[in-house]
Amino acid sequence: MSKILNEVLAANASYSAGFGARAKLAMPPARGFAILTCMDARLDPAKFAGLAEGDAHVIRNAGGRASDDAIRSLVISYKLLGTREWFVVHHTDCGMETFTDEVMRRLLASSLKTASFGPDGWQDAGGGGSTEGDFVDWLTIRDQRESVLSDVGRIRSHPLVPASIPVHGFVYDVRSGALQPIRPAEKLEKAS
Ligand SMILES: [Zn+2]
Repeated sequence: MSKILNEVLAANASYSAGFGARAKLAMPPARGFAILTCMDARLDPAKFAGLAEGDAHVIRNAGGRASDDAIRSLVISYKLLGTREWFVVHHTDCGMETFTDEVMRRLLASSLKTASFGPDGWQDAGGGGSTEGDFVDWLTIRDQRESVLSDVGRIRSHPLVPASIPVHGFVYDVRSGALQPIRPAEKLEKAS
């Protein structure tokens, strides 16, 4: 077994041994809300939003973007499992700001090895890539506030999302752990 596999299984054995009353948790989130956020390892929604097992849905992807699949989860979250308030949380220093579709496609066409990030941006070792990346929208981010507003707007205006569900937008600061609210008016102020 790999070291990581051993560590994960040991941690799980310990967790499961103390599982206790969590065995009786119901499927619908007890606190009736959902968070869409980035997969970034520095973000722990259970900690930054005060969640215990059973409290809320947490939907994660690269960037915390309102992709078709994130919306699929959110729709199931309210329609079948009763959430009634949603949070979209992007964050400072997001890796999704470090590349574009064109960069990602070039890197993947070059090779499937892990690329390195340096002063000249992303560089690839080369050898044995695939152009399949040309067919993926990587949903990169140019501006955190704009990406939050765009994703909140997309969810808000989606035909399968009822107007009764508040959708709150935030940028999480990876240097302080604080959530900064993002509202459309702030975008207008920034533009003027
Ligand atoms: Zn991120």
